[in-house]
Amino acid sequence: MEKISVIVPCYNEQEVLNLYYKEMNSIMEQMKEVEFELIFVDDGSTDETLSTLRELFEKDNRCHYYSFSRNFGKEAALYAGMKEAQGDYVVVMDADLQDPPSYIPKMYEEVKDGRYDCAATRRMDRKGEKKIRSFFSAAFYKVINKMSKTQIVEGARDFRMMNRKMVDALLEMGEYNRFSKGMFGWIGFRTKWMEYHNIERAAGETKWSFMKLVKYSVDGILGFSTLPLSLASYSGFLFCGFSFCMICYLVIKNMIWHDPVAGWPSMMCVIFFIGGVQLLCMGILGQYLARTYVEVKDRPIFILKETSDSKKRRAWKEESSPALL
Ligand code: UDP
Ligand code: MG
Repeated sequence: MEKISVIVPCYNEQEVLNLYYKEMNSIMEQMKEVEFELIFVDDGSTDETLSTLRELFEKDNRCHYYSFSRNFGKEAALYAGMKEAQGDYVVVMDADLQDPPSYIPKMYEEVKDGRYDCAATRRMDRKGEKKIRSFFSAAFYKVINKMSKTQIVEGARDFRMMNRKMVDALLEMGEYNRFSKGMFGWIGFRTKWMEYHNIERAAGETKWSFMKLVKYSVDGILGFSTLPLSLASYSGFLFCGFSFCMICYLVIKNMIWHDPVAGWPSMMCVIFFIGGVQLLCMGILGQYLARTYVEVKDRPIFILKETSDSKKRRAWKEESSPALL
């Protein structure tokens, strides 16, 4: 019997978890031909998420949970889940029911005979979203696809089912700065795209502010393109050429017409402009250096604080079942 592991990152999702389990349970009842395991990753929630997960574990032995010592981010939660997943197929989905469990049987149909390695959802329209957000999002995909060799599919969601080969490939990418959208594209494989229309969250609220999204976009660009670095050197070349021409022009002008160089304001403009470009280039270098620094430190991507996994509990000398905590 084949097994499907479902990874659910949860950060302050107490309102939706039981609802999610109910929906998921009816899908598991429907798909009797496969075995399921639900891997909930509590990403350092500050509400009752963890105790809800303990209750689910008690109720249903297909539910497992891993709880982080603090908030490490969704990407870290996905990595932790994939590391623990035992299934032949792995589904990644949000807890808030924006990723409807009803897609899972359809996804399984696409991947089970090996025609595709992955069945993923993709947003075809941006209804129900602020215009300005859609604009920035479209601009982001345009920029990143111009700058990076890795194809990043516009509107692709993380919600997908992958086979073991693909999950193992993702696990091989042990980088600290994780940008899933890029990683899914980078590893390749055949993906079946399924149309998805946006659904509002069942309860709770989104953890993404506009600034967080901007930071996420910058992470994506820096993680999957080194073009900004070359831009610094190109602009260096350009300015060298330009200043050489300027020097020749000024020298010749002075020798022939004995015309003293005038113009303090224009000089200041040039100094500020060049200074700005230099700082920008240094900033770009700094961004890459900072990321290299973090990668070189090779710190763990996440740290566990509590889990339902009995092997880990034994290693921690936590003999009792979490249900008794
Ligand atoms: N999430 C997480 N860690 C975080 C932020 C979010 O594990 O630091 C989880 C969250 O619980 C949810 C999923 O990632 O299951 C997507 O988050 P959210 O619904 O806030 O994002 P949106 O759907 O608005 O893009
Ligand atoms: Mg959501």
